[in-house]
Amino acid sequence: MGLYGAVEAGGTKFVCAVASGPEEILSQVSLPTETPAKTLGAVMAYFRDLQQKTGKRLDALGIGTFGPIDLDKKSSMYGYITATPKPGWVNTEFATIFEKRFKVPVGFDTDVNGAAYGEYLWGAGRGLDVVLYLTVGTGIGGGLYVNGKPLHGLMHPEMGHVLMQQDKSVDAFEGTCPFHKGCMEGLASGKAVDLRWKCHASELADDHAAWDMEAGYLAQGLMNYILTVSPQKIIIGGGLMHKKQLYPLIRAKVKTLLNGYVQARAILDDIDNYIVSPGLGTNSGIIGAIGLAMAAAERKT
Ligand code: ZN
Repeated sequence: MGLYGAVEAGGTKFVCAVASGPEEILSQVSLPTETPAKTLGAVMAYFRDLQQKTGKRLDALGIGTFGPIDLDKKSSMYGYITATPKPGWVNTEFATIFEKRFKVPVGFDTDVNGAAYGEYLWGAGRGLDVVLYLTVGTGIGGGLYVNGKPLHGLMHPEMGHVLMQQDKSVDAFEGTCPFHKGCMEGLASGKAVDLRWKCHASELADDHAAWDMEAGYLAQGLMNYILTVSPQKIIIGGGLMHKKQLYPLIRAKVKTLLNGYVQARAILDDIDNYIVSPGLGTNSGIIGAIGLAMAAAERKT
């Protein structure tokens, strides 16, 4: 049985784990996201110490990270975080320094593609061919698995930045996205909710108007994804989705927006099982990173 290192790199924390499989996590820690030197140094120290303690070497590493990242293996920047809005992290070498330091294959992808992979292999998307995972937290991002592979093209999808129809007579909020203002992330991320309503999203009552509006924006995004990539399951996670009342609101609005156009039983008759919460709870990301490591080890052998 192999030994795998996993990293779920987020804007506020890095979750690291060592595991021999998705259900055999031997150790897990959470480290604060500080400067690249400090945080990546702490991640390396964690894996190095664990190797020493167990007397075993890691077979592979899997990293799912905030981005954007360079996934083009022919690029001199492969394995880097690139034009991220996260201060101090622009053009940070990531996957390749772990490859060099630990001399193991490294599976590298976005945090959302990593989470999508976890859900595809072992969660709510198990057994399906086209699985979409969307996270709605401080930011919004989506990952897509198609026939066992993450969708990588020019780079990777940036589903959080799709355009929204905004009725300014109801919602005059300008939007928080530094690139597009009123894209989905700009209008529906946790940051947008906090700024629009001038309090933390968790303080808003379950029946506050904020949630109907939130579901409206997310449903617009989902309608676009359904029409463009035809997912067999849409899994929505992230901090904001702890407000469980969002799920039925989103489902109803997706149906209304599609207006009967997509004649699929999953949507017309069984939407409760089509737009769902993550099967792996809040662990999709780290378990997905274990999956990325296992896949990297397999590619090598
Ligand atoms: Zn945007």
